[in-house]
Amino acid sequence: MNNFSFSESRMFSILFNGISEGALVVNQNQIIVELNSSAANMFGYDIKELKGKHINTLIPQRHHQAHDKHVKEFVKKDKKRRMGENRKIFGLKKDNNVFPIEAGLNPFKIDGEKFVMTIITDITKRVENEENIISLNESLEKKVQQRTEQLQHSVDELSELNDLFKDEIMRRKQAEARIKTALQKEKELNELKTKFLSLVSHEFKTPLSGILTSATLASKYTKTEQQDKRDKHLNTIKNKVHYLTSILNDFLSIERLESGKVTYKFDYFSLLNLINEVVYNANVTLKTGQKINYPQDLEEVEMYQDRNVVELILSNLLNNAIKYSKEDTTITLKITQNDKFIHFEISDEGIGIPEKDKEHIFERYFRAENALLNQGTGIGLNIIKVHLENLGGNIYFESLENKGSTFFVKLPIKHED
Ligand code: ADP
Repeated sequence: MNNFSFSESRMFSILFNGISEGALVVNQNQIIVELNSSAANMFGYDIKELKGKHINTLIPQRHHQAHDKHVKEFVKKDKKRRMGENRKIFGLKKDNNVFPIEAGLNPFKIDGEKFVMTIITDITKRVENEENIISLNESLEKKVQQRTEQLQHSVDELSELNDLFKDEIMRRKQAEARIKTALQKEKELNELKTKFLSLVSHEFKTPLSGILTSATLASKYTKTEQQDKRDKHLNTIKNKVHYLTSILNDFLSIERLESGKVTYKFDYFSLLNLINEVVYNANVTLKTGQKINYPQDLEEVEMYQDRNVVELILSNLLNNAIKYSKEDTTITLKITQNDKFIHFEISDEGIGIPEKDKEHIFERYFRAENALLNQGTGIGLNIIKVHLENLGGNIYFESLENKGSTFFVKLPIKHED
């Protein structure tokens, strides 16, 4: 079944055997008419075995139909082309093994008869390599994905840990703040106790020794006509006892205000009476040449308040005015009223309050620098302010150092239950 002449056939065989790729020629009926040893080896045959066989011998069964169709179309078009470029094609070996190939088809005519020469390359290795690369890529992608998942997991764990830490830190901070507040309170309490003890010992010592001196001196005046001398010392003793009582009252007030135990006793009373009483008591403590100016034509006002507290406020302010002023000065008490409120103004021509101390004046135990030579506890104004706030009133002051001070008090005439 050789369609070539002898010389042609020899030429083919020289050409064919000279190339390392597999080469075979089929006729129009797809019968193999020539092939080289590379092609025969590739498919596991001897050259002789394949000559005259249908090309389908070298194509796996399942590709026969597709190949047939493909070749027919190709022969019709009569063009050079490569097979296996866009789709995979396979060869069938004698031992039935299937392997991937690439084929270049070259149609030609001899004496009007159509032939196709096919150059075949066994691409098993290349495909293997490609598959290796693909599977390497796949496993690499898988690994990347796994690592990403692990990383995400770690990130999640970390952020969970972070949240836990945040909670823990928050709880610790809160606990710390609680401990700090408790400690601060404890410290303040200790300071208060220390201050109280030093105040008590200091504030009580001087009047007590004064009382002792006066008592000793009074006892020396034994004669009947020395009554005025005895009276003078007895007065001093009375004053000092009065002072000690007021300090003790202040301390007790603080204690009661602090513990919330303070209860007010509201009742009706005459303002006129109260003022007379307060001024009368204050007059006893005046220094030489000092006097208290107060309204003589005061209208009668009926108040409904805690009388003792109003007395404490006014006497404290008057006592301060006296205490912080020199001899021969005037203390003025002014009283005005409207429907609801009564206003008291207590002015003096005393030492005044230094600018830098003004903001602290109502703080408990605070005493201005220029007041330290006078006796005092720094409690009075603080108590007054708390009482006034409790009773719906208020207090403020104006003062110039070395010129004098005025304290303004506002209080509801009638407490509303
Ligand atoms: P104390 O008079 O016992 O020190 P207070 O609470 O009554 O305590 O007063 C607090 C401080 O306010 C005083 O130490 C003093 O510095 C100042 N102060 C109060 N009243 C006057 C005043 N009339 N003139 C000058 N300073 C005053």
